[in-house]
Amino acid sequence: MSEYFNVADIFGEDVFTDKVMQERLPKKVYRALRKTIEEGKELDLATADVIAAAMKDWAIEKGATHYTHWFQPLTGVTAEKHDSFITAPREDGTILMEFSGKELIKGEPDASSFPSGGLRATFEARGYTAWDCTSPAFVRHDAAGATLCIPTAFCSYTGEALDQKTPLLRSMEAINKESLRLLKLFGNTTSKKVTPSVGPEQEYFLVDAEKFLKRKDLIFTGRTLFGAKPPKGQELDDHYFGAIPSRVLEYMKDFELQAYRLGIPIKTRHNEVAPNQFECAPVFEEANIAVDHNTLLMTLMRRLAQKHKLRVLFHEKPFAGVNGSGKHCNWSLLTDTGVNLLAPGKTPKNNIQFLTFFVNTIMAAHNYGPLFMASIATQSNSHRLGSHEAPPAVMSVFTGSTLSAILDSLEERLSDKKLTPDEKTEIKLDIGKIPEILLDNTDRNRTSPFAFTGNRFEFRATGSSNNCAAPLIPINTAVAEQLTLFKAEVDKLIDKGVKKDEAILQIIRKYIIESKKIRFEGNGYSAEWLREADRRGLESIQSVPDAFKIFSSKAYSKLFDKHKVFNESEIHARYEINMENLIKKIQIESRVLADMAANHIVPTAIHYQNILIKNVQGLKDILPNEYLDLAAEEIRTIQTIAKHVKAIRENTYLMVEARKKYNHMDNLVARATGYSEDVLIYLDKIRHDIDKLELIVDDELWPLPKYREMMTIN
Ligand code: ADP
Ligand code: MG
Repeated sequence: MSEYFNVADIFGEDVFTDKVMQERLPKKVYRALRKTIEEGKELDLATADVIAAAMKDWAIEKGATHYTHWFQPLTGVTAEKHDSFITAPREDGTILMEFSGKELIKGEPDASSFPSGGLRATFEARGYTAWDCTSPAFVRHDAAGATLCIPTAFCSYTGEALDQKTPLLRSMEAINKESLRLLKLFGNTTSKKVTPSVGPEQEYFLVDAEKFLKRKDLIFTGRTLFGAKPPKGQELDDHYFGAIPSRVLEYMKDFELQAYRLGIPIKTRHNEVAPNQFECAPVFEEANIAVDHNTLLMTLMRRLAQKHKLRVLFHEKPFAGVNGSGKHCNWSLLTDTGVNLLAPGKTPKNNIQFLTFFVNTIMAAHNYGPLFMASIATQSNSHRLGSHEAPPAVMSVFTGSTLSAILDSLEERLSDKKLTPDEKTEIKLDIGKIPEILLDNTDRNRTSPFAFTGNRFEFRATGSSNNCAAPLIPINTAVAEQLTLFKAEVDKLIDKGVKKDEAILQIIRKYIIESKKIRFEGNGYSAEWLREADRRGLESIQSVPDAFKIFSSKAYSKLFDKHKVFNESEIHARYEINMENLIKKIQIESRVLADMAANHIVPTAIHYQNILIKNVQGLKDILPNEYLDLAAEEIRTIQTIAKHVKAIRENTYLMVEARKKYNHMDNLVARATGYSEDVLIYLDKIRHDIDKLELIVDDELWPLPKYREMMTIN
């Protein structure tokens, strides 16, 4: 029997929500906590003690035995260390369950095993976690029972960020500050806060657990390192419109149920392009919470897949030649009074404000495009970016033809010459009409890395396994920077005696002109676009190590430093961590492939070859005169197999030699570049011969599930 539930009844039941806080905390304590949440005011320990006690009682009622500081280190997954609530046994042999304010606010996990890029010497294991009270605590239920999870930031002992959350929160503060300053220019003095709103669309593949467990490459690297595409005429597209198998639906329902309990507002579920590829998307939330919820959701999805004898793949390109997975980050700016700053308003004044934020975001993409693209560069995402179904690593912005025409017309009409009062009125009236035109939201471009979709931007280059904070940090910071510059330029004109509205429009026009080359409405996957981008002088990212270099280059460090998002040593630490991760990823892939080639593929190929040889010899015994003619085809196959086996062996040897060569290099950049250029190449070469063998060797003998089998769930 399937379990039925009313979403409204269970939504957020495992979350220490605002409602729960209001019910359980003394008024004074509640107000102090709200002040901390809203204004970042520091909490005193006495108040924290009261909150911690209430949180503990609430969690114990939900069955919790332990608590954990839950954080997002730079390994790309979440981490936690569990402590139980018990205190030392008393004399009478009983114990108390306790949780102090100090334990709530700060934790000291043994941080030595998390990457720190040299920021924290390993012997100095003390990193610390600090409660992020802007993201609610929750109780998670899993095999370990129930655990109170406290979202935390993770820093080195000297305060440097070792996680994704800390810089994200800092970048949110930067954009909050600059947006509020700019809003004053539009006469808005009531808004107290502007937050980036984020809705991440999560794509993923599902594979039957039994087949998954037969593929070491999937287990250890998250992707298939080889696998021939099904023969012609059997393209995988036929699965696209097929109904979702009920086993998959049950899985979806199950993780959605758990997500609702944890207050994650999942809204959409649907098939994606490839067979067994799906997507789910929540209703957007504040950036920080959206990121926490997305990482939590990924954990849930992994865990529940096991329960349904499935495995979920978040790798961007688990199957070569098959559509990859992304995580489109929808991003906008929302005021605490409920105004979406990237949605056109109802009056000309509101729309000048919309145009301001809109054009500044485009300008940010123009000035910091390579930084945006570099922020989501990972080894796994590189297999997806640049291939046919995803935008190549060149930044461009899609605005839709309507807005594009509006920008062009503003550029033309707001010329340098003095406008007559009539002309000014007309332009303003036209700006006021934007919302009506934009309602037609069908104008979509799925090939643009950064597309405006009516009331938000969608950063589509983000990979399905990326933490959304990675792109959000530079986007928030770069837009904050643009807003600062914009305000300064407008103020300068106003000081010169130009009227406010006119000053704003003049700078909008200036930005429209300056950012023109980043706007592209055509097919972002086409070869023409790459040529065109080159002609326009847009920087493209050639490799993953290059992306890391770009991210940490001087110009961008200055940006981050100015807005207090990263200091220099934090940038450098990230650079080292990224390079190290890259090397490790390729190293693991290389080892796994060598192992699979030597222990599964080559023996199977030789086994089949022997069967053919026996057959040819048998023919020779029976038909000594004709056998050469009769067995010609088989002899050719024997030769072909021998050729592929030889190539696999040689390339495996050369790959191992290349690894040895680069392992001995002390210079991190040389090592990473070597791995990503010289070692990676052999992965492709070896794969080529294995895929050929897969098509030759008897299906019965092939020891590993093939693409089509892995893409079937029944
Ligand atoms: P599509 O696939 O058509 O782009 P989806 O419905 O799958 O759209 O996902 C759109 C995502 O964008 C959802 O997560 C949605 O909540 C989010 N979104 C909508 N409006 C905003 C906004 N103002 N700010 C941020 N995200 C938004
Ligand atoms: Mg979608």
